[in-house]
Amino acid sequence: MVTDSWGRPVTSLRIQLNAICNFKCIFCHMEGTPINGSQMEPSEIESVLRTAARFGVRKVKFTGGEPLLRRDIAEIIRRTRSIILGDISLTTNGTLLKNKAKILREAGLDRINISLHSIEPGDFQFITGTDSIDKVREGIREAKAAGFRNIKLNFVVLKGINVDQIPKMIDFCAHEDLTLQLIEYETTRENENSDEYLRYHYSIDGIENDIRNMAIRKESNDLHLRPIYTIMHNGKECRIEVVKPMHNAEFCMNCTRLRLTSDGKLKTCLMRDDNYIDILPSLKSKGNIDDLYVKSIKLREPYWKYDEGEEHKSEIFCKVPGVAGNRRRETFHTMRNGGWTVGGNK
Ligand code: SAM
Ligand code: SF4
Repeated sequence: MVTDSWGRPVTSLRIQLNAICNFKCIFCHMEGTPINGSQMEPSEIESVLRTAARFGVRKVKFTGGEPLLRRDIAEIIRRTRSIILGDISLTTNGTLLKNKAKILREAGLDRINISLHSIEPGDFQFITGTDSIDKVREGIREAKAAGFRNIKLNFVVLKGINVDQIPKMIDFCAHEDLTLQLIEYETTRENENSDEYLRYHYSIDGIENDIRNMAIRKESNDLHLRPIYTIMHNGKECRIEVVKPMHNAEFCMNCTRLRLTSDGKLKTCLMRDDNYIDILPSLKSKGNIDDLYVKSIKLREPYWKYDEGEEHKSEIFCKVPGVAGNRRRETFHTMRNGGWTVGGNK
């Protein structure tokens, strides 16, 4: 398996299917790419998936913009299902889910994340610029009826807007058997002093502490080792996943993800826009993209790093194709003179 200079394999591909949306969320990073009308053809996406699968990708997540705005979404899922043996999931704002949940399930989609940053109609409108909250709730119901399990509700925590709604969200998720994904508002280093970020960013460390203290169980997501807590709420279990990438070297050190933008570029990190690899011309001419794909893996670099001299133990999940089970590999990383040393299984 090809790894980057930090010993991190790429086992997960996040594919942006478009960069347009029917919402205008106040915090939206649009997966780190500017709004544009480009969309790769299903056959082009399929070619990338074939290469990615050969180099170790076993999980695919579709995102956008709003991926359900694509009329060919079911075809894309079907083509993906014929290549990717592991988890295929999609993140949506849920507005178009009501009519699409069943066909997505039949096409082979395993899981759905639905974004719902408030269950108060007024706040929902303020955050998204739309009054579509009922459509999203219908979408959630339809996704459950279509047979989707372990549905996650993405909730970006926003200072002064929805922090106090977290108990209500827990209540809703426990009742509806959904996993609540609490996401810290993230931005690049360059934008950390922007008005928008300063106004809405809220560190979720304290919230995570409270949840940890209540938890009856703790697991880790194999991507980024994100913690998932199970708490009891009104006699029901509720799973809460915490996504806290800001200044989190552990998060980056356990990142096994490569990205594909809607206009056909491999992107090594959400936060970086200086090392895209454009594979669209090769795809259009039906050329081989293996070298470009490997080059992109080699360019990967953790965005948030440990301080110089610090030594940290981290665990990288590493599933070798053809070998059953997850192999947890412990690696030690030490930052020295601006460079890294990596030692495995210390
Ligand atoms: N439109 C779909 C949706 O909203 O689920 C998919 C695309 S959206 C860019 C993917 C996820 O990124 C959503 O859950 C969204 O809430 C999250 N997101 C967008 N901007 C963010 C930011 N600045 N910080 C943290 N999460 C963000
Ligand atoms: Fe961004 Fe998703 Fe909101 Fe659309 S729905 S604006 S893509 S976060």
